[in-house]
Amino acid sequence: MSQTKQAGAVVVHGGAGASCDHEDACVLAARRALAQLEVNGDALDAAITAVAAMEDDGRLNAGSGSVLGLDGATIEMDASIMDTRGRLGAVACVQDVRNPVLLARAIADTPHWMLAGEGAQRFARAIGLPASRPVTERQRAEHRKLMAQMAGSVPAMPGVDNAVFARIWNYNKPLDLPEATACDTVGAVVRGADGHFAVATSTGGSAPALLGRVGDSPIIGSGFYAGPHGAICATGIGEHIVRHLLARTVYDWIAAGMPLAQALQRGIDLFDKDVAVGLIAVSRNDAGACSNRAMPQARMTQR
Ligand code: ASP
Repeated sequence: MSQTKQAGAVVVHGGAGASCDHEDACVLAARRALAQLEVNGDALDAAITAVAAMEDDGRLNAGSGSVLGLDGATIEMDASIMDTRGRLGAVACVQDVRNPVLLARAIADTPHWMLAGEGAQRFARAIGLPASRPVTERQRAEHRKLMAQMAGSVPAMPGVDNAVFARIWNYNKPLDLPEATACDTVGAVVRGADGHFAVATSTGGSAPALLGRVGDSPIIGSGFYAGPHGAICATGIGEHIVRHLLARTVYDWIAAGMPLAQALQRGIDLFDKDVAVGLIAVSRNDAGACSNRAMPQARMTQR
């Protein structure tokens, strides 16, 4: 834990349940965020820099590494940003945008706080944000793995019978069934040396999921929150996270004086063991991470 008061601090995660082989992506993202903090001291710019780097990595479930939908073709992404200077932006269910976190940042400068679906994609085009990169063999392999799991008897989504997805199917292509729920959102929380806090998060969503599914990541107070006492970012199965308003709940505990590590652990303890969940946070004098699964992460403090 960092105890340095006032020094800038960055914590990033690569998703609850993601392989820690990908931790190098988090380390690089945190370094870039710290470098960005040196440039202008803006916690939000630093958080966005970290998340954009992880979106571009291709191994994490966000941006260029996003999971394919159950039809094996559609990618829908969510992202959000928030800071203590009043900037708040989110995007839900957007397709064909390379860096959804940059779109969330741009939405914060419109009269709205969130755009979804086609309108979000059109806005991205209007402001010149690049389209997604072509789908990679890695994304296709992950999809084949999920299909194999869906065809088996072990629930691909905890507590949900795999057959449910066939009954409520809403993709254009028919379900074509031939391991592990995809759950590797990326996120970053930053404390600026000026005492401001920021959070940014981005995800390709969880799998399996119906077309149009939105998780916790773009929902204020659930997947993310920033206020004068700190910034919190959650990862894991959104359907469970939103029921606990997880980010705001943990924020309130920290604001009430609970030590950061204790607040993060208490947040994780709200969930059944079969539900993957992870948290990262920065407060005025601390920074940390906690999860009930492997979670690639990196934590760095300004000198
Ligand atoms: N929370 C994300 C979602 O439910 C997934 C994740 O964190 O990996 O969309």
